Amino acid sequence: MELRKDPITRSWVITGDDVMEAAPRSQACQFCGASADPAQVIANLPGVDGSAWSARSVVHPHALYHIEGEPARRADGLYDRMGSVGAHEVLIENPRHDGDLWNVRDVEVEQFLRLAALRIQDLKRDSRFKYISIFKNHGEGAGQEFEHPTSQLTATTFVPRRVLYELRAGRDYFETKERCVFCDILAQEERQNVRVVEIRGDYVAFCPYAPRVPYETWILPRSHESSFERTGASRVGSVTDLAALLRRTLQRIRTVTEAFHLVLHTSPNSQHPSATLGYWKTLDDDYHWHIEILPIIEAKARSYTFKEIYYSPVASETAVKRLREAKI
Ligand SMILES: [Zn+2]
Ligand SMILES: [Zn+2]
Ligand SMILES: [Zn+2]
Repeated sequence: MELRKDPITRSWVITGDDVMEAAPRSQACQFCGASADPAQVIANLPGVDGSAWSARSVVHPHALYHIEGEPARRADGLYDRMGSVGAHEVLIENPRHDGDLWNVRDVEVEQFLRLAALRIQDLKRDSRFKYISIFKNHGEGAGQEFEHPTSQLTATTFVPRRVLYELRAGRDYFETKERCVFCDILAQEERQNVRVVEIRGDYVAFCPYAPRVPYETWILPRSHESSFERTGASRVGSVTDLAALLRRTLQRIRTVTEAFHLVLHTSPNSQHPSATLGYWKTLDDDYHWHIEILPIIEAKARSYTFKEIYYSPVASETAVKRLREAKI
C-alpha cells in the first residue's frame, strides 16, 4: 500500500492491491479474556474499581500504516506519492465486551477520553506525523470491524482532507474577523437555541445548520480550545462533563439508529509547521476541536442521488426535537 495525492483536490488516498485475508471469524474476542495478546499493548489506563485496566491501546492487527521508516515523499511526473508510514492503533474503550460508550458509567467513558488524549499527545511528539485521527465506526452499515467496543487511531504524514478544509476555513475566517468561526457558531447556536441538543458544563451538543446526514450532531467545548488532547489530559473536572455529554448524546442517537460514525477533529501537529499550507500561524486561535457524530440511516442513505452534494432529508431543527425528547 502507498499514499498518492490527488493533484486537483490535493487530498491523499491510501491505495494499492491489498490482499484482504479472510479474517478468521473466530470464537474468542482478541481484546478481552484469555485470547487477548498482551504483546500488542501500547498503553494502558489504570482500572476503575478493581479491574486491571480501564482503557487500552493496541497495535491494529491489520495495520494500514506502519511506524517504521521515512515517508520518502517523491514525485512521479506531476504526481506525488509516499510510503504508508504512520501508526494504526485500536483503542479498546472498555475491558468488558459489552461495555459500550453509551451504557457504561461516566467515569469509564472518561478513561477512554483520557487514553485518546494521551495517545494523541504521545504521537504528536513524532515529527513525522502531521495529524492524529480518532474515529469509531459502529454498526454494520458503518463498517464496524471488531465486536468488542473499540475506536481506532491513525497517525498520518498528511492532514486528512476534511480537516484540511476546516483548517483553511478557520484560518480565513480569522484573517478577516479575528475571531474563531467555531466560537461564533456556538454563540449563535446558544442564542437561537433551535439546534442545541444539550449543554453540560463547558460542553454543548448541537445539530449543525447544514448537516451532511440526518441527525448529524457535533460536540464542542464552549470555551475556545484548539487541541482536544490539552483538554483531555489536563483539565481534570471538565472531562467528566464531556464524558457524560458524549454518553448521553450517543444514547439519544441510538433511539433513532444503531449505526454511526464518530470522529474527533483536533488541531494538527504543529511541531513542524507546514510552510506551504500556512495554517499554523493562528492555529491556536482559529481552530476549535470537536467531535462529529454521523448517524447512518439506511433508508435515507439510499436516496443519495449525487454523492458529491450532501442530501439530508431531515432538517436539524426537526432532528434536534427528536434527540432532545429521546427517553434516555
Ligand atoms: Zn471482547
Ligand atoms: Zn473557538
Ligand atoms: Zn470537523
